[in-house]
Amino acid sequence: MAIQRVGAIGGGQLAWMMAAEAKKLGLELIVQTPNPNDPAVIAANDVILGAIADAKATEKLAVLCDVITFENEFIDLEALKLLAAKGVCFRPSLDALSHLLDKYHQNCYFKNLGLPLPEFIALESSEKIKSPFGFPAVLKARRHGYDGRGTFIVNSQIELEEIWQRCDRPEMLLEEFIDFDKELAVIAARNSKGEIVVYPVVETFQKEQVCRWVIAPADVSTEVVEQINTIAKTILEKLDVVGVFGIELFLTKDDRVLINEIAPRTHNSGHFSLDACDTSQFAMQLRAVADFPLSSPQLKCHSALMVNLLGIETEQIKARLEKLAEIPNSYLHWYGKAESRPGRKMGHITVLFSAEPAQSWQAIAKEIESIWYG
Ligand code: ADP
Repeated sequence: MAIQRVGAIGGGQLAWMMAAEAKKLGLELIVQTPNPNDPAVIAANDVILGAIADAKATEKLAVLCDVITFENEFIDLEALKLLAAKGVCFRPSLDALSHLLDKYHQNCYFKNLGLPLPEFIALESSEKIKSPFGFPAVLKARRHGYDGRGTFIVNSQIELEEIWQRCDRPEMLLEEFIDFDKELAVIAARNSKGEIVVYPVVETFQKEQVCRWVIAPADVSTEVVEQINTIAKTILEKLDVVGVFGIELFLTKDDRVLINEIAPRTHNSGHFSLDACDTSQFAMQLRAVADFPLSSPQLKCHSALMVNLLGIETEQIKARLEKLAEIPNSYLHWYGKAESRPGRKMGHITVLFSAEPAQSWQAIAKEIESIWYG
């Protein structure tokens, strides 16, 4: 039976962008989200109000849908397994997700596959903690981290102990600090027939562990792109993924590619694809989970710059958005979130280029940021 109604766990900006693409594909999108003011609520065909980890709400969602996919992975996996056992179709599968929801399990899974990643250890709550990698090192929450929340660069033993105590000595992950040359990311999709597409590799720029802007395509060698494509295909095939994954990577100064982390869904680093590619990552997720053939992920312009618009406290939001909209070849996406908190992703702007820009990427991104942040 053809898939017609897609459920999404999560109703934030990713589901909001998916909802617009669902309409174009003639699909219905029904979201499960805790707050009636969440961005996707109005855009979706229907909504189940419930927390992301509320499997009872997902049970109600399942009644309305042919397949359930994810915009948020902070789910209760064990509770959802009971629904899967009753025949609810999750794409990607819960088996695939079971390797990815905890960053330590994720790293172990990639290490066992022989994929390249930073050295890491798990910190247990009972032990005296030490860094076998020296300092700086990177302390990470094993679950529920996002936008750099839960990731701490620690510079000394004292700092390591202090932050760990402040977090209540939970089980965490400690990673070797990578003095990277670039941070890269890629979006890849796979459908149930095993067809795979990989988007152009992008370069991402973070400040204080939060992504500020993204350049597509990244200025890297074809060898690096090939290595990344192989990593993406390996992960999607080994996990038998049906859906879209965002893969964050480091490129070291000696041109080694290391996996940072995987998001088992669409990702901020793929937002450029809405305006810059033949098929957006949101349409691709729907195509994959609804058994459509996948379509071209290629850029339809020379290059693109995506800048996140993070929450600011000002009376001038409208005036600044109007100014941003005047940028030639730009596409502004405002998520309509009810509350603007500093650092919260409120929208993004993508600028398309038909040739190498005269200014540096850095300079253009800085100009956009200066309009937005003042
Ligand atoms: P989140 O899931 O919150 O996005 P990440 O694990 O991706 O957290 O880390 C956020 C940022 O912290 C990364 O984009 C990178 O800039 C920095 N970071 C994370 N891990 C490392 C590492 N091992 N070495 C150096 N920097 C890191």
